[in-house]
Amino acid sequence: MQIPFLDLSHPEAPWTEQLEQVASDVIRSGRYLHGQHTEKLEERLRNLYGTKEAICVSNGLDALRLIITSYLRLGRLKRGDKVAVPANTYIASVLPITEFGLVPLFIDVRPDSRNMDLDLLKNKLTSEVKAVMLVHLYGNPVWNAELMNQLHERGIIIIEDNAQAIGAVASSPGFNDKSNTGGLGDASATSFYPTKNIGALGDAGAVATSDPQLANMIRTLANYGSDYRYHNIEEGYNCRIDELQAAFINVKLDYLTQITNERRHTATLYTENITNNHVRVPAIDKESRQVWHQYVISSPARNQLSNYLRANGIGTDIHYPVPPYQQPCYAGRYVIDCPVTDRLSNEILSLPIASVTDAQAGYIIETINRFSPDSVCS
Ligand SMILES: *Cc1c(COP(=O)(O)O)cnc(C)c1O
Repeated sequence: MQIPFLDLSHPEAPWTEQLEQVASDVIRSGRYLHGQHTEKLEERLRNLYGTKEAICVSNGLDALRLIITSYLRLGRLKRGDKVAVPANTYIASVLPITEFGLVPLFIDVRPDSRNMDLDLLKNKLTSEVKAVMLVHLYGNPVWNAELMNQLHERGIIIIEDNAQAIGAVASSPGFNDKSNTGGLGDASATSFYPTKNIGALGDAGAVATSDPQLANMIRTLANYGSDYRYHNIEEGYNCRIDELQAAFINVKLDYLTQITNERRHTATLYTENITNNHVRVPAIDKESRQVWHQYVISSPARNQLSNYLRANGIGTDIHYPVPPYQQPCYAGRYVIDCPVTDRLSNEILSLPIASVTDAQAGYIIETINRFSPDSVCS
């Protein structure tokens, strides 16, 4: 059996004809930016996240950049402020912090959730920390309502990088409220990069917030800093979403529950049936709703395992092989102690999780369960 890590052409995808139809509609409409598809998508995102505002933008990184620079321009953050960010994340969570002269405070992750260790965060909070960037990595919510209330009492801004977690629902011990990630903090960024759970056919992203002042600044900055036509009150950018991408995303959003349930089903099969002692599987959290952007196992024999799986026709990937603070662009800038993230970067392996049939999952499980580190050479 040959199972690629990810096949974006989704030969059996139910939405292909609808995508062709809306593409044709947009082509014939003559309206390619700021049209009805973008408006509709913003409304749907407001409803999904329970926020007062949603602003569609060019991509997830720009969504984060707009959030950070808007807080600076509004005077609510200033250069040199520290922003806590998980050590284990994609570099796009960190770039907007450093780009605008803020200082990342890398917080190590928990070995089980691979998300920011909120107890560590609590211990590392000093008066210099003015914002926390929560990343719901792999589609797993990271949230603690009590701690977040404490952060707010101290005036600390909570930004969510929800790039991997659209549709996820967080829960927190002792609190009955369950809320969608992306609507938990002060502002969130969503990515519609093609491989994300809801992927555009190109780049797109969104900001969600219930802060009207922030939303206003973001809308202005994303459109050349213009409040009305040919009138520029800020040195802005062009971070608009294409009407075509908004139309595609609206089609895919109808399938959010289905896409999520399929991933949750496959993740449950993996977690319940992978029994190899050399492999650690991620836990299924019964309280929150994980959306499994990635299904990430770990093994001290990771490289042997990935070679063995490839030899057996199974594609895998690593998210991420090098933590952001060890990237060459930050060479020598961060001497930090994040042993869990360091270890994970050598041990983690992502299995196929998008559009995986039960037969494919069964083959993957059986193949992994037969793996023994000494039986292959890497
Ligand atoms: C994909 C991703 C981003 C960036 O989104 P783009 O749309 O690719 O710019 C940011 N953060 C995380 C955690 C991501 O996975």
